Amino acid sequence: LPELPEVETVRRGLIPALEGARLSGVRLHRPNLRYPFPEAFGARLEGAQVTQLARRAKYLLFHLDAREGPLIWVTHLGMTGRFQVSAHDGSAQSLDSNYYHAVRPDAKHLHVQCLAEKDGQSHLIDFYDPRRFGFMKLMTPEALSAERWYAALGVEPLSNHFDARWLFECFQRRRTGLKALLMDQSLISGLGNIYVCEALWRSGLSPDTPGHTLSEPQAARLTAAIRTVLEDAVDAGGSSISDFASASGELGYFQHALRVYDREGEACLRDGCGGTIARKIHSGRSTFYCPVCQPLRQKT
Ligand SMILES: [Zn+2]
Repeated sequence: LPELPEVETVRRGLIPALEGARLSGVRLHRPNLRYPFPEAFGARLEGAQVTQLARRAKYLLFHLDAREGPLIWVTHLGMTGRFQVSAHDGSAQSLDSNYYHAVRPDAKHLHVQCLAEKDGQSHLIDFYDPRRFGFMKLMTPEALSAERWYAALGVEPLSNHFDARWLFECFQRRRTGLKALLMDQSLISGLGNIYVCEALWRSGLSPDTPGHTLSEPQAARLTAAIRTVLEDAVDAGGSSISDFASASGELGYFQHALRVYDREGEACLRDGCGGTIARKIHSGRSTFYCPVCQPLRQKT
């Protein structure tokens, strides 16, 4: 299941071929993914220029200057969606060879294709999605802003809005434990279970610490840990610990950087801690933590 870092990796990988490019030759090989493709999808993309490749939470937002005016091509990768970029001369140049798949994608899972032309160069953009939980939408910027799911997304954890002050003030008003607060997509968008466990361990905070008891220095530590964990994962090409990874037989490099996730019963990796990683369930999801260096009651 691609999480925020994987989606960000895809975005950064697509920028060289797509940002500033003009789209043409759009082909759909089926009528739908999770949902039907937008009405006249191909025709509306035809000739559009990609002005910006953005991301919000786990949504890729391709800003387009289309014939009908500004549009946003929204893509969600679902569980198994992936883009592949090839130079049009046929030499394949996979974007994501450092994570997700060692194997070449199967042509029967190729659902969307288009050409991106820029600076006299032409790239073939292929979208594969074996399980088809992904989806694509096409809407005006105004319509996107008005969508309830979009408006409900919390602060973007890699944006400048996400800082210690914001986190401190937000959590001050909440008695819920840190794990649940960090997983709440209406507060912070796109933080998944793995990254929350890692950030809490790195900042030495218990998953059960009530939000309102967090001190300002702790908020600063936690904010910094979240950014670092996400940036490290983006640098490593995402973690891709999931059934998707096991389906392809290849795991991302970030899994080797996981310090606490999926390490129940193993020794804590913090120097001098001596604790053993424990696991408990919060809202149906496993939380991995060290009871020794992530104590519930602690000094700031
Ligand atoms: Zn420890």
